[in-house]
Amino acid sequence: LIGIANLPDVDFLAGYLVGDPGVYHWGPTHSIAAALLVGGIVAWRFAQRAGGFTPVFVLVTAAYLSHIVCDLLLGPGAGPAVGLQVFWPFSGERLMAPWALFRMAPPSIETAGPLHALFSREVLPMITREIVILGPVTLALWALRRFRSSTQTRTSFLERSRFDGPVL
Ligand SMILES: [Zn+2]
Repeated sequence: LIGIANLPDVDFLAGYLVGDPGVYHWGPTHSIAAALLVGGIVAWRFAQRAGGFTPVFVLVTAAYLSHIVCDLLLGPGAGPAVGLQVFWPFSGERLMAPWALFRMAPPSIETAGPLHALFSREVLPMITREIVILGPVTLALWALRRFRSSTQTRTSFLERSRFDGPVL
């Protein structure tokens, strides 16, 4: 799912191949159509092997869409002329949220390469900001999941004891 959530930025690789990393960025790979397509392909392949199309489709599509939502939340700081082609292929319009939650990567990372993007001093504050914003959300979801799974375990234990007789 982490790989799927990063998949929209595969458009950078196409850009590197033609010598301009940003030339295809925020295009069709950052659309709802691409999210549905990837979710459909992965779920279809999964269903062939193990069954259960819908849960995998929802999970994979949501992971892909999370990337698009996060990119949209870079906001107007990314510049008035840029944005994501969210509704491609039905519209080529580029959209961006009216306010910025996250920070745009410095232009130097496009020329310095992807490893520089991960380890440069310019990018560290951006990564820190994203961890500070998304860390509590992740912890809250993790805690909710733990709480729900412990409740379900208790319920199934009680249901089992009802059928099997008293548990000593
Ligand atoms: Zn992106």
